[in-house]
Amino acid sequence: MRKLKNHLSNLYSLDPKKTIENNIIRKKEILDRDPQFFNNTPIPSWIELSLIDACNRVCSFCPKSDFDVAPNTYQKMNLNLINKLAEDLKKINYQGAFSICGYGEPLLHKDLIEIVNVLGDFGGVEIVTNGDPLKVELLKKIYNSKTSKLIISMYDGEHQIDYFEKMVFDAKIDKNFVILRNRWHDSSDDFGVKLTNRVGNIKIGNQPKIEQRGCYYTSYQILIDWNGNAYLCPQDWDRRLPVGNIMLQDFFDIWNNNVLNKYRKKHLSNQRDISPCNKCNADGKVHGKKHAKVWHKKLKIFNEL
Ligand code: SF4
Repeated sequence: MRKLKNHLSNLYSLDPKKTIENNIIRKKEILDRDPQFFNNTPIPSWIELSLIDACNRVCSFCPKSDFDVAPNTYQKMNLNLINKLAEDLKKINYQGAFSICGYGEPLLHKDLIEIVNVLGDFGGVEIVTNGDPLKVELLKKIYNSKTSKLIISMYDGEHQIDYFEKMVFDAKIDKNFVILRNRWHDSSDDFGVKLTNRVGNIKIGNQPKIEQRGCYYTSYQILIDWNGNAYLCPQDWDRRLPVGNIMLQDFFDIWNNNVLNKYRKKHLSNQRDISPCNKCNADGKVHGKKHAKVWHKKLKIFNEL
């Protein structure tokens, strides 16, 4: 393995395991904090948005590789939806963060900058991209928006380090704004990602078993798709069971509804016996323990967390 020297400090590491570890550490500050409350109810610290239902790549560890599961529909999130979400978040004084990632490549959305500038008034906004649509001018625009970090997953090889570092240099932006992640690895390194089956849709690699165990995702985060449908978590690539829709309901009412509370009761009782969780092998306890603890108490769950 090449020894790192003279590279920008924004390249995590060439060891894929270290890259995954650093990714977890980066999110700790926001996901492992004490939760905010509204009406005596803990609210999320992380909202993931899927701006566009399309990706220009086909990666074997991603459900986008199976067009029967996740076809490219090119449907896009509308600015009206973002404004409605912002109104709802103002009502609860939301001060969490956003991840612009989800089920497609966000840089393919032409309103990306406007969207980020609405969300950035509430908290940090990370954009996760494969970097393919990125050029110097777009990088400058993203840097000058309310984006807090741009995370580039490099799937092709080490040569991409020089390519993106030159782009950062040419754009004359703070090098710490961009994080480069090495993800060009093969099955012997789990493709450089935290490999999961995405609720039964990915079977390759050395996958963990599906087991009855707890999950904190529903305690600290929620995912909103292009059309406003809200889902349990980014692992749910089936997208058959929305827990609400942002255009039709208030954000807080979705967050605190009976459907999500039913999942929380299961997850905080160490059960995954309802769909789609009964097909999921993800470790749901990487983040969010403090959020889980307050939900555990609020929902009066007696068995241990
Ligand atoms: S058990 Fe899996 S599918 Fe269910 S909320 Fe947790 S991570 Fe998501």
